[in-house]
Amino acid sequence: MMNLVLFGGPGSGKGTQSARLIDNYGLYHISTGELLRDHIKRETEIGKLANKYISKGHLIPDDLMISIIEDTLDGEAKGKRGVIFDGFPRTIPQAEALADLLRRRGTDLHAVVGLEVPDEELTARLLNRAKESGRSDDNPETIKERLDVYHNQTQPLREHYIRQKKYIPINGKGDVNDIYASIQEGLRHQTGREPLKK
Ligand code: AMP
Repeated sequence: MMNLVLFGGPGSGKGTQSARLIDNYGLYHISTGELLRDHIKRETEIGKLANKYISKGHLIPDDLMISIIEDTLDGEAKGKRGVIFDGFPRTIPQAEALADLLRRRGTDLHAVVGLEVPDEELTARLLNRAKESGRSDDNPETIKERLDVYHNQTQPLREHYIRQKKYIPINGKGDVNDIYASIQEGLRHQTGREPLKK
């Protein structure tokens, strides 16, 4: 098994790089943002609650997020070669819960791929994406809030995973193919795993 976290600010390229990693390493993709947007679209109770937070650029409560992850691990993700967590964890309690959930299932978190992109570039990318994404949270005020939330609540995880020697820093600026190549190299170094296909 290989379980990975793809870590980085909003607009850092987590979705783009996940797509290739899933395919090349045969991993199951859990994007918490996508799961929540799907609930919103289906107008479920979770969706109605989540929308209140997402539309303001705030994080949804840890308990809710953790229980969604737990259900997914025991549902669709069960028996897969490994999981790529995209957009989760975003807080220290979420990171602690993830370690516990994996441990209780006899596995571990093998690496955290950190896509490092300066704020100005993140803002520019998100404003650009806003033109076509149709996402309620891709607008100038919410983008600013999401960056603040990222710095205050999520960035401390970087240190947390550096201390655990799981963090692979990746320069997230530049050509997507070059970024992917550095991720592959970082994973080889950190975990000894090779992709199933290149
Ligand atoms: P994303 O697509 O990853 O940028 O997530 C969009 C929004 O979904 C975030 O701004 C949060 O409101 C919510 N969200 C996604 N993942 C999490 C998480 N791990 N914890 C709390 N809220 C989350």
